[in-house]
Order: sequence, then C-alpha cells, then structure tokens
Amino acid sequence: MTDPVAAACAGHGLAIHEDGRLAFGFTDAGFPAAALKLLFPGRPLLFLKQVHADLIISDSEWHAGVEADGLLLESPGVVAVVQTADCLPLFFFSARRRRGGVVHIGWRGLLQGIEARLVERLGDELADFSFYMGPAIESACYEVGEELPELFAKRPYAKGIFKLIPGGRYAMDLRAGVRRSLTGLGVAPSRIRDSGLCTYCSGGRFPSYRRDGKTGRRIFNFLQLKQQGSDAGA
Ligand SMILES: [Zn+2]
Repeated sequence: MTDPVAAACAGHGLAIHEDGRLAFGFTDAGFPAAALKLLFPGRPLLFLKQVHADLIISDSEWHAGVEADGLLLESPGVVAVVQTADCLPLFFFSARRRRGGVVHIGWRGLLQGIEARLVERLGDELADFSFYMGPAIESACYEVGEELPELFAKRPYAKGIFKLIPGGRYAMDLRAGVRRSLTGLGVAPSRIRDSGLCTYCSGGRFPSYRRDGKTGRRIFNFLQLKQQGSDAGA
C-alpha cells in the first residue's frame, strides 16, 4: 500500500525538526497544503490571514479568517502555520513553558515592531525562549529604494541593516534587523539561530515573491507542541 503522506509529498521536500516536545519546520516550493494536512493527521492547521501588520494572537484567540501575523500556541493538539515567500518566518519555543509559535516578518511588520509585540507577549518568560529564523530573502538579494532607510531611521537597530549599492538603491538585511531588534529587547544572542537560507537565490528550492512575482506559491512554516510524554508519532 502506498503511504498517503509519501504520495502527497512526492517530488517535494520539507525540513522538519521533531522531538518529544515539538515539531517545527518549513516546506519547499510547490508543496501542497493537502500534504501538510496529511503530515498532521487529526490536528487542525491554524492558518492566518496575514496582513503585514503587528498583531500576534494565541491559539485560544484564533478563528477562521482571523487577521494576524503571528500565532502563539499555548496548548498542544493544533498546528500553527505561517506562509512566506521572501518574508522571514520567526519560530519561537520554550521547552520549560511549553509554549511556542511562528511570526511572519517582512519590512512592514518589522517597521511596525511585530518582534517587539512578541517580546511583550512573552513577558517575564522571555529568557526561556529560543528563536529560529527560517528561509527568507537575504541582504545580497534584497534591493530596496531610499524610502526604506528613511522609514527605519529612528529604529535603534537601523544602523547597518541598509547598505548603499550602485544606482542609489539599498540592500536591506531583514534578518539582521530582526536579530538586532530582538537582542536590543533583551534576547540573548545565543538564543537566536538562523537557517541561513535565502529564498531568492535558492535555485527554485523555495518560492520567492521577488524572483517569481505573484505565483501564489508560499512556504508553509509550521510548529506544533507535543503533549508531554505522548504524541511522539504525530
Ligand atoms: Zn539570495
């Protein structure tokens, strides 16, 4: 008998980290949502209507069609899903607190301070959390106009995330912006890990809005908490 998950995933790939506490990862270009569902049988996938704003909700606040750019899971059983194609998926997790989630951060989200909203939301528990930056467009591939450095001029981390390039344009380092802002807000640098993966120059491994335009293709970035002492096979 053909394994339905293997059949649905045929020709596609995903990166997944899984242990007794959580499962998280991301898919590559063209990975079907149906296959994602099969990966988590019986677990609702909590998608967000992402609007490039700064709202992060918890799973208890979630409803279908909810407009938000980050999801904080406080209980096992459901899967947080954030879709990206150049923007940064920021995963976060605390083994001690058994909470975690994913946030979608593009330049608009960063400008509005969604990473600061996350830090506020984690509150006193911040030191228990680890962060992981998934695939996103890297500085060398991310050319922006002069209006962006102007918009970010007052941000404490802004210095160094824009580099002037020929033609009066700038290269923007989105992940450096997120990293510097998080460390400025009290996250220990050793708590932030980076996939180092660029969507734009991935040779087609990942969808890239900048490279491909509006194809509708997205990376599915997912995170699920496990029930303590069980749920290991999900
Ligand atoms: Zn690149």
